[in-house]
Amino acid sequence: MAVEQTEKKPMQTKNKILIGVVSALVIVGVALGVYFGTKNNDNKSGIANNDKSLGGSPTTTSAAAPSPSPTGAPTHGNGTMINGVLFPYYTLTGEAPAPVGVPGMVYTTCKTPGTFSISFDDGPSIYTSELLDLLDKEDIKVTFFVNGNNQQCIYDPKVQTVLKRAYNSGHQIASHTWSHPQLTKQTVEGVTLEMTKLEKAFEDVLGVVPRYMRPPYGDGTFGNGNANDQKVQGTLKNLGYVITTWDIATGDADIDDNIIPHKLTDDALMKSEQNQYTSVVNAAAKGATHMALHHDTYERTVKLMAPWAINYVKSLGYKIVPVATCLGDEDPRTWYKKIGPAAATTPAVCQK
Ligand SMILES: [Zn+2]
Repeated sequence: MAVEQTEKKPMQTKNKILIGVVSALVIVGVALGVYFGTKNNDNKSGIANNDKSLGGSPTTTSAAAPSPSPTGAPTHGNGTMINGVLFPYYTLTGEAPAPVGVPGMVYTTCKTPGTFSISFDDGPSIYTSELLDLLDKEDIKVTFFVNGNNQQCIYDPKVQTVLKRAYNSGHQIASHTWSHPQLTKQTVEGVTLEMTKLEKAFEDVLGVVPRYMRPPYGDGTFGNGNANDQKVQGTLKNLGYVITTWDIATGDADIDDNIIPHKLTDDALMKSEQNQYTSVVNAAAKGATHMALHHDTYERTVKLMAPWAINYVKSLGYKIVPVATCLGDEDPRTWYKKIGPAAATTPAVCQK
């Protein structure tokens, strides 16, 4: 673009400008490489960061404007590649079915027989890319309940890259509030802001607004209809959110840590987390459906527990699917209130 704008200048001047532009780009490129190389190694926990795909993009991201699909309707999870940019769902043709999940309703288990949902909360984190590799290898789709500004800022270019990969891979992206507060301690306006602030970020980064959410800590769903729960659930209903919690919690957020040396050995941690799974499954009727909760913010969840859980659930004969799918919302278009292209540019930081 810069070269085209100098088209009318004499040849000599044009070449000088061209050389100048190329030199500037090289300098910027080297500077960014050094910056992200340094950031990737800047790990407070001291754990080696092997998450190479987090090193990605510069301060803004862009998406080409959509154009008619050259290949017709894409399949779920694959989408359509247009000018090198993958558009996963909104290019699906035909009428989207009516959503099955009911806004304001709290779901703790699946509905569709034979399904088992596995979900990951609080991310993306520096471990999420490795988890996505595992999920690709196992060929399963899960739900990510994402925060706006909890452990990482959703607008961080590295976080955007991982989130886009999860979305483009066909995983369900759902809301876990902007800053992970206890919603019962928020006013109606506070709950609303926690949801709408993240809606804006999802729309910027992915072009979608989720219909599904999980309240942090499950808070707002345990009070048997008390006034605070009614406030939370009523506000979420008015915003159009299906509320999903869990019936299996591995406890990783309560007992795991990313500090070395770990407080619990790998064996002790896995034994505890695995027991959470097996005790719930064994106590339930054979074939009962389940919703399992993990956190992709823990290294051992990604490296140890997720592979175990996937094998275990598969060995029981279940199909592992996203939360929405197991409630009957099988068409990915019913996972979102709004679907469109991502913003051409996004902020690179989260505003306070
Ligand atoms: Zn959480």
